[in-house]
Amino acid sequence: MTMKTALVWPLLAVLALAACGEDDDYASRDSNGPICGNKQIRGVKVDPIGTGGGCGIANPVKVSSVSGVMLQMQPVLNCEAATALNTYVREGAKPAIGKTGGGLQSIDIVAHYACRRRNNLPQGKLSEHARGNAVDIAGFNLRNGETLTVLGDWASGKHAKTVQALHKTACGPFGTVLGPRSDRFHRDHFHFDVADYRSGPYCR
Ligand SMILES: [Zn+2]
Repeated sequence: MTMKTALVWPLLAVLALAACGEDDDYASRDSNGPICGNKQIRGVKVDPIGTGGGCGIANPVKVSSVSGVMLQMQPVLNCEAATALNTYVREGAKPAIGKTGGGLQSIDIVAHYACRRRNNLPQGKLSEHARGNAVDIAGFNLRNGETLTVLGDWASGKHAKTVQALHKTACGPFGTVLGPRSDRFHRDHFHFDVADYRSGPYCR
């Protein structure tokens, strides 16, 4: 055995062991592979995110598309939130947009996992974003190149009813749905999260 092969074999053994640890039914190395046990949810598994101070995700995923709709800025979420997002896009967002502008092509995600407090304030409760339970959406891109935005199209204009339907239909798939009606922090985006409320979904 030459010096070279003597060094290579232990290295291969280490690589093989490392690869085994990642393999399970939900694993995907391809950013377009199915994740969270659902063929409609595509993306990759990512490394566990530490749980210091209540933050973190044990089994995070980075989602590239749901129900055939691309996500601009691929959110890091837990599978519960990724599954809710898929249900919302399939049963809420796509029907709400229908054939407008040729249909829904992609969604502009503006926030996902972040170890922070609610509304980025220095004090107060930990945000659902800090547990991978939440996703923020600022706009919906249509196939004709048009974008429906929360900031520009919520209150008035030809797309206002559609944008309000895009908010309303998230109520159910997500336990908490916030938009421009809720407070000044949500003028330009929808906040959706999967936190449970005993009294049912909170949608505003
Ligand atoms: Zn949010």
